[in-house]
Amino acid sequence: MKYSIPRGTYDILPAESYKWQAVISSFRKIAGSFGYEEITTPIFEVAELFERSSGESSDVVQKEMYRFTDRKGREFALRPEGTAPVVRSYVENHLDVLSNRTKLYYIGPMFRYDRPQAGRFRQFYQYGIEFIGSDNPYYDAEVIAIEMLWLKDLGLKNLRLEINSVGCSSCSADYDTALREFFRPLLPQLCADCNNRFDKKPRRLLDCKVPSCKALRGSAPSQLDYLDEACKAHFAIVCEHLESMNIPYTINPGIVRGLDYYTNTAFEVIYEGLGAQNSLAGGGRYNGLIEQVGGKSIPAIGFAGGFERLLLALEHEKINFAEHKTPDAYLICLGDKARSGVMAYLNALRQNGLYVEYDPDKSSLKAQFKAADATNARFAIIIGDSEIEAGTVNLKNLKTGEQQSLPLDGGEVLLHIVQGQV
Ligand SMILES: [Zn+2]
Ligand SMILES: [Zn+2]
Repeated sequence: MKYSIPRGTYDILPAESYKWQAVISSFRKIAGSFGYEEITTPIFEVAELFERSSGESSDVVQKEMYRFTDRKGREFALRPEGTAPVVRSYVENHLDVLSNRTKLYYIGPMFRYDRPQAGRFRQFYQYGIEFIGSDNPYYDAEVIAIEMLWLKDLGLKNLRLEINSVGCSSCSADYDTALREFFRPLLPQLCADCNNRFDKKPRRLLDCKVPSCKALRGSAPSQLDYLDEACKAHFAIVCEHLESMNIPYTINPGIVRGLDYYTNTAFEVIYEGLGAQNSLAGGGRYNGLIEQVGGKSIPAIGFAGGFERLLLALEHEKINFAEHKTPDAYLICLGDKARSGVMAYLNALRQNGLYVEYDPDKSSLKAQFKAADATNARFAIIIGDSEIEAGTVNLKNLKTGEQQSLPLDGGEVLLHIVQGQV
């Protein structure tokens, strides 16, 4: 019996892991410099959490969520996204009591039953930032800055930041009316989904993926023309902050959010050169979400992005983090006495952070030297029975051929290897 990986999932093999580690450590560094701290939640939650947060009629809940019933009949779901679990944890653990400004980030796998295609998987990995506790547009600009600084830190160019404002509940009501007026005469030509959403959520008609629906909405009214004074001012300040940070942006009124708890700023980061799947990250303000999942009414803003597309973008720009790990030293051991003490000796060096290779299946000096060369190790540490008796080891620089006898006690060997000398 041969087993294969489930469709829509993938292994991160060792050579790829270096890239992931480099990308993630850069994310942690940048987010940390803004005072954001990591939060890790379980990969499954009660299904209702996502029904409340994503909306029961959403595609995520209706078609894409992995649901299961446990042995006691409770309904759970593998998390399809990261914000709802973070907000659940924020409310449950009373994080608002610790500080009225909560800065969190997360990294981890998410799950959606979706048609697998380039850059899209059923188990995919996301990173996200959540700022909870203030409506100040400063923080809208801050979370955008984190994403942009990080992508810049990774070396990505060809980025485009698109922003929009979806207003608040009062100004979006006017907008919904304007949208209904615009779409009403088009209803016979629009798809069934659009017709279903027309009454309750006319904004959803703006993100319908059906090509004929897309073509019909070209001249639909823009939310930006329906913002009230407060929302207009909020958006203007976000734009000002972006300009003062020299972060270029374009305004795209097409960035809409289907759910009521989204307010004001919405944004997307696009990488040119990935074809249709070109969005690296997206986010926005969700002032209404925390209340919706059972907390107080606390304003918040965040974003999430996928690692798969990010890695594709890095590849596209030929940014390479892969490093083949070469040993600091290769231990060559001859004779029974030397071999019996070899593990303790290796441990002493490894505990000091050296990467030392050793192969107990190779016994001749020649085979061990050949193996050392094959690993590209810089040094060979040679211990034979005569060295054990004399209390010494030989340290050989495999690049220059220089060799030196040093005390068996690891201290000096370590120093020489770290300093790169013989
Ligand atoms: Zn408003
Ligand atoms: Zn449609």
